[in-house]
Amino acid sequence: MQYDYLIVGAGMFGSVFAQQMRENGRSVLVIDRRRHIGGNCYSYPYEDTGILVHAYGTHIFHTSDQRVWDYINRFTGFNRYQHRVLTTHGERVFSMPINLGTINAYFGLSLRPADADAFLASKRETIAEPQNLEEKAISLIGRELYGAFIRGYTRKQWGCDPTELPAGIITRLPIRTSFHDSYFDDVYQGIPLEGYTPIFERMLAGVPVELGVDFLADREAWRRKARRVVYTGPIDRYFDHCHGRLNWRSVRFETDRLAESDHQGTSVMNFADESVPYTRIHEPKHLHLEKPWNPSGTVIIREYSCVDNDAPYYPVNFVPDREMYTKYALLEQKESHTVFGGRLAKYKYFDMHQVIGAALAMAKKEFGGDAH
Ligand code: UDP
Repeated sequence: MQYDYLIVGAGMFGSVFAQQMRENGRSVLVIDRRRHIGGNCYSYPYEDTGILVHAYGTHIFHTSDQRVWDYINRFTGFNRYQHRVLTTHGERVFSMPINLGTINAYFGLSLRPADADAFLASKRETIAEPQNLEEKAISLIGRELYGAFIRGYTRKQWGCDPTELPAGIITRLPIRTSFHDSYFDDVYQGIPLEGYTPIFERMLAGVPVELGVDFLADREAWRRKARRVVYTGPIDRYFDHCHGRLNWRSVRFETDRLAESDHQGTSVMNFADESVPYTRIHEPKHLHLEKPWNPSGTVIIREYSCVDNDAPYYPVNFVPDREMYTKYALLEQKESHTVFGGRLAKYKYFDMHQVIGAALAMAKKEFGGDAH
């Protein structure tokens, strides 16, 4: 055996784990099906504009976990970007997540926080135990706000009716009765100063990386290279879909360079209505207000939701998916030489900071708690 660990996937989980192993004197080989490192965090400068584009959609780093923040800051500095999302509904632009500004603008009111509580209470419907995303949303904000800002967007994003989705997805979005309109409430937030790719280059410095190779196409040969395997790809693919195919949602991007300085005035504009085919437009220039971008051009990326099982992004988690995943999780436990981690292997809607925390914890566990 040449290596202590073969790490399948050069995304966040695999790279953090590789970095920790190398730092603690273990030998690692990292492989990835794609031709670049960084997984879905991969970023690159767009042609001559130099605008840092997040190739798989805007990634905002945010965490309240001091350990995760200290760790990631070893590999990059962050700017002071604070994420704010706007959404276009009909001919108007509103603030997301739903806050007092959204409520007042939508209903043409000028409520104060205490009035807004009572107002929302009058809109809410009592549903004892909301069983799905729609019921949950209606129990939180009522039918009108749900219909305007959640229903259409969610149908586009997930390709199904919100009644088929777990209630938990919507609890990612806070509902606020103040004008506070920051998308995340975490203590730390920002965009890596030079984008995400340099973070991965630094984490993987000195680590052999093979790109454009598929572990599952020749898994026995790969396995022979290392004592243990870390697998970060889709869990159902690892087990040859023996319990069936989990539902995944993917996204497709359409990138345009425009000869205007500022297209939409913000980094992410959501489109709530189903009559607009895309879910959002990203304009990455706005992620780096500290940079003197050339005013003669900008880059925009339209995001469309789709199904592409070769490029899964989001676990859907329909009820049958959850049952199927439980079966895969049992099989996973029997794989004593393989560690599973990350969004695709765990079939969980993790954010970057959660994946880093999980990879650090997993590395520590591998050492029996004696890692740095
Ligand atoms: N969502 C919505 N309207 C919006 C934004 C979000 O209905 O304008 C719902 C939608 O169901 C989405 C979920 O909230 O899938 C989580 O949104 P988030 O912005 O966290 O999604 P991500 O950025 O991870 O794609």
